Amino acid sequence: MDKIKMTNPIVEMDGDEMTRILWKMIKEHLLEPFVELNTEYYDLGLEHRNATDDQVTVDSANAVKKHKVAVKCATITPNAARMTEYDLKEMWKSPNGTIRAILDGTVFRAPIVVKGIEPCVRNWKKPITIARHAYGDVYKNTEMKIPGTGKAELVFTDKDGRESRELIHEFDGAGIIQGMHNVDRSIESFARSCFNYALDTKQDLWFATKDTISKKYDHTFKDIFQEIYDAEYEEKFKAAGIMYFYTLIDDAVARVMKSEGGFIWACKNYDGDVMSDMVSSAFGSLAMMTSVLVSPEGFYEYEAAHGTVQRHYYKHLKGEETSTNSVATIFAWTGALQKRGELDHNRELMAFADRLEKATIATIEEGKMTKDLALITTNPNPVVLNSEDFIKAIAERL
Ligand code: NAP
Ligand code: MG
Repeated sequence: MDKIKMTNPIVEMDGDEMTRILWKMIKEHLLEPFVELNTEYYDLGLEHRNATDDQVTVDSANAVKKHKVAVKCATITPNAARMTEYDLKEMWKSPNGTIRAILDGTVFRAPIVVKGIEPCVRNWKKPITIARHAYGDVYKNTEMKIPGTGKAELVFTDKDGRESRELIHEFDGAGIIQGMHNVDRSIESFARSCFNYALDTKQDLWFATKDTISKKYDHTFKDIFQEIYDAEYEEKFKAAGIMYFYTLIDDAVARVMKSEGGFIWACKNYDGDVMSDMVSSAFGSLAMMTSVLVSPEGFYEYEAAHGTVQRHYYKHLKGEETSTNSVATIFAWTGALQKRGELDHNRELMAFADRLEKATIATIEEGKMTKDLALITTNPNPVVLNSEDFIKAIAERL
């Protein structure tokens, strides 16, 4: 059999611990036998990040600007314990944070729906994709504890020194205040990323804020989405047969619970933080989630939503058997290959990515799965496979 060729490369960002082990197995059993893999490889494993003073992370993000498509393995974000474990020169920043800052994107997360792993919300039939704005609001706030009686104000000083003021509260006792911000440019790129992703995946887009209470702050989010939709997307949405729907956040929550799924839910930063954990746990598991960073310029970085599965890695190092779920990492690869195929008009590559996803789902549906899924499946007789045998079972099906 001739291997499928790739005209342009994808940026390959290798990572750490158990997911680095899975990465190698996936390439060996599921990709290389079928595809002449064309990747530009960057080793984002912590040792190499440390050796290059984290330059490799910056280089890999810049490579995405050139090649447009990347696939990333989970990576360690160093903390104090990792400083000693890896003898680090510095507590390097989160690679995902560095890459997001360079590509300026929105993160889309969607559950991988499989028969036998049922969502706890009975009427959810199709995945719900959460699009989380990743800049500002309460994540970049300034807070004060107010000790007692006094006046708190918001003050803005323009570049010529003119001040405008708004009273927050006249305190007659102790209390608290909080200042937060966002910038139009970031909200605009968030909106465009969401509209583009909706068109790409042919799904409706929902957006919600609390604009009735927050008449300037949240209302600005609502207005920016609406202006961009009217000016740039209305026609395209009509042609694609999808819709943009705005409502209040509490109404959105009620409607989401009663829906069948199958849409994108754009969330402000805090709402996205809270709602993505609700949606992912209701659908089953972080190891059954896809995650992609989409930049407004049309760059795509695919990854797994979970971390490096450290506990399993230590078992692996001791020579013990592991049963680590590789589905999210496999889907990071298929997402990237699919997008590469689409951009290069490479139908064979797209078809391959599709077959690999179907083989993965079919393997689980016929009862072969890793331990995490065996614990939650409705299948009465699941066969629990170890990390490598699960990947081999998919390869056999493929
Ligand atoms: P984690 O790697 O997501 O694992 C937490 C626990 O969730 C695991 O111990 C395991 O539970 C379960 N789990 C997660 N993924 C699984 C999979 N694929 N198959 C089976 N079980 C899975 O989070 P963590 O242990 O808190 O973090 C480890 C490292 O990952 C940290 O250094 C952190 O910085 C990094 N991290 C990276 C990313 C990223 O690169 N995107 C994201 C998050 C965390 P059991 O142990 O009960 O089996
Ligand atoms: Mg969170």
